[in-house]
Amino acid sequence: MNYETIIGLEVHVELLTKTKIYCGCSTEFGGQANTHVCPICLGLPGSLPELNKKVVEYAIKAGLALNCSITKLSRMDRKNYFYPDCPKNYQITQDELPLCRDGFIEIELEDGTKKKIGIERIHIEEDAGKLLHTAAGTLVDFNRSGVPLIEIVSKPDIRSPREATLYLEKLKSILSTLGVSDCKMEEGSLRCDGNISIRPEGTQKFGVKSEIKNMNSFKALEKALSYEYQRQVEAVNNNEKLLTETRRWDEASGVTLVMRNKEQANDYRYFPEGDMVTIKISDELIESIRKTIPEMMHEKCERFVRDYKIPEYDAGVLTLSTDMADFFESTAKLSNDAKSSSNWLMGDISRLMNEKALSVKSLKFTPNDLSELIKYINTGTISNNIGKIVIEEMFYTGKSPKEIIEEKGLIQNNDEGFIVEEVNKVLDSNQAAVENYKNGKTRITGFLVGLVLKATKGKANPQLVNKFMLEEINKR
Ligand SMILES: [Zn+2]
Repeated sequence: MNYETIIGLEVHVELLTKTKIYCGCSTEFGGQANTHVCPICLGLPGSLPELNKKVVEYAIKAGLALNCSITKLSRMDRKNYFYPDCPKNYQITQDELPLCRDGFIEIELEDGTKKKIGIERIHIEEDAGKLLHTAAGTLVDFNRSGVPLIEIVSKPDIRSPREATLYLEKLKSILSTLGVSDCKMEEGSLRCDGNISIRPEGTQKFGVKSEIKNMNSFKALEKALSYEYQRQVEAVNNNEKLLTETRRWDEASGVTLVMRNKEQANDYRYFPEGDMVTIKISDELIESIRKTIPEMMHEKCERFVRDYKIPEYDAGVLTLSTDMADFFESTAKLSNDAKSSSNWLMGDISRLMNEKALSVKSLKFTPNDLSELIKYINTGTISNNIGKIVIEEMFYTGKSPKEIIEEKGLIQNNDEGFIVEEVNKVLDSNQAAVENYKNGKTRITGFLVGLVLKATKGKANPQLVNKFMLEEINKR
């Protein structure tokens, strides 16, 4: 029997506010343990939380970008549980009235079709502290306690581990572009849990689901969900009863392991947080936040194809980061040659950045410099091959193309008499190749042109070399 996979993702994202959600402590990552704390985020009795307005604004911004409707009257709730990283014994979160509801993300599948994945809700809440398990015992650091989070819960619309990855990638791209989170999975500012179940293809009833925790990278997400799908299919085929479980992905062994089952599940006893007022959101606030939403990367990608007539592939690569996209756009405008701008950025410049592990931000030259280089090539001042030497020099020294070309004497030689002479020198010393040409192997001219360019250290105008090569070889 064939089984269909049903997946829903719950993503926790740390917001990039300067201060915590219910107090004025710093949200900075790292720092000496228990230095970013106060009575509120330590949960001391009698302390009163006060909601950080910026958190609400960031959450609404995310909600609008994810096509959600915003809840005008919202409130905070207590989620009760005991754990040493949560000293109040409850987390202040949102239960029945999340800030944002009913949105979607559109993903593009491998075959090019687009698919909408629904978003059930986005709510705001506080992060817990961090337990550090050492040889001497377990320590607790409350620096993270009270760092603002949004939890984004998808609808069970995802049908494969691959789709789950595409969804998370798109979500990460949108949130990063919005600037509401740095989305660093390695630092825990973006964390993903998943619910997965299977059902026979063509049926509607949902199967027994397991919740998978600890998927800390895109790779882990896809591997964990693929493993869990296989495990559930095998269990059903062997007539084993599937249980509602919380399982943990174990990266080292590549399996999911049981953490707890339904009987051990928490009952959180949610109730309204009496220490905090109702959150009222005005239309004016929503509209003013909507105005601050920048162009999303997928929109930018489509616009680059439309406005700059570059291939979709180029646009996709150039819009992987805002810095790269901005560099491209400025260069394309200044040089009036979008395709060359894209070629240099995706080719030599990306190669050099990879070799040196540098980012676009750390480039020593500007879009203006790159556009100058493109103009020098397009006007025939230097050849494309010489351009490659210039770009390396620009990359390492930050000097302008003009300086480099003058210093190194790289200006292209367009002197026809000189080029004809160089062509004949090469033909004289390569009689065998000339014979081959006469015998019909006309492609040998490519080789001979290469020799001329080499002899002139790349400075002879390649178009002229090509032209005179054909003329001169046919005279022989
Ligand atoms: Zn605090």
